[in-house]
Amino acid sequence: MTARPDAGRPRRVPARVTVLGSGTSHGVPMIGCDCAVCASTDPRDARLRPSIVLDVPGRAQILIDTTPDLRQQALRHGVRRIDAILFTHSHADHILGLDEIRRFNTLQGGPIPCYANGETWDVLKRTFYYAFDGLPRLGGGVPAVEDVEIGGPFAVGGVAIVPVPVLHGTMTVLGFRFGAFAYVTDCSRIPDESWPRLAGVETLVLSALRDEPHPTHFTVAEALEAIARIAPDRAFLTHMNHDLGHEATSRRLPPGVHLSYDGLVLDVAVDVE
Ligand SMILES: [Zn+2]
Ligand SMILES: [Zn+2]
Ligand SMILES: [Zn+2]
Repeated sequence: MTARPDAGRPRRVPARVTVLGSGTSHGVPMIGCDCAVCASTDPRDARLRPSIVLDVPGRAQILIDTTPDLRQQALRHGVRRIDAILFTHSHADHILGLDEIRRFNTLQGGPIPCYANGETWDVLKRTFYYAFDGLPRLGGGVPAVEDVEIGGPFAVGGVAIVPVPVLHGTMTVLGFRFGAFAYVTDCSRIPDESWPRLAGVETLVLSALRDEPHPTHFTVAEALEAIARIAPDRAFLTHMNHDLGHEATSRRLPPGVHLSYDGLVLDVAVDVE
């Protein structure tokens, strides 16, 4: 048998990313704040909690994180199907909307496969104990979740996914790479072993909280340093707080780097098996 030259090599196909939320855990505007960004009328300054959805036509619609704003985000962007959910980590701003998947369970007639590392599953199963304890409950209904622990690269609907571990203070958070696109949030340091996993990425979404240093998040300057090293064609910052007004911050970013905003749509390329 003659081996095809492309045997085993992934194929790259077009996909579309929608930023569902580009804000930090408080969201922007923040409750009880009258600062210029919280009071801004620029829609790009209104940031829901951090999440994206990746649509790979004919293969899978993949949601990253279930924020407390998931219901609004799904309604606003017409998300009607979720084939899989990937969790970056267990912080409240990334998981508290898990209960909202009940509606997708009904629409799709089954549980949704959810992927997370062991540490995140520990918290998810305590926080949403009622979805996992198997006890019968009267009325209501519970989110139907198929729990999958991430142990290395995996695939959803044939879409190849490489977890990219990064540090969030002392906690390990998973970024995800899909071919030419990567999403890395809640990052304060990229460990040596993860840089190669980001090599060759063309479109990168990376978190940057604010300008002032923070123990568990990149500042804008730190994110720009990481972007310069990864050298994607274009990069988009996310998980911003109210210090970073869209217009003013955008003006000082280098070429090829932008602030993301809720509703931003990116055409990307992902690897399929
Ligand atoms: Zn504010
Ligand atoms: Zn976090
Ligand atoms: Zn966060």
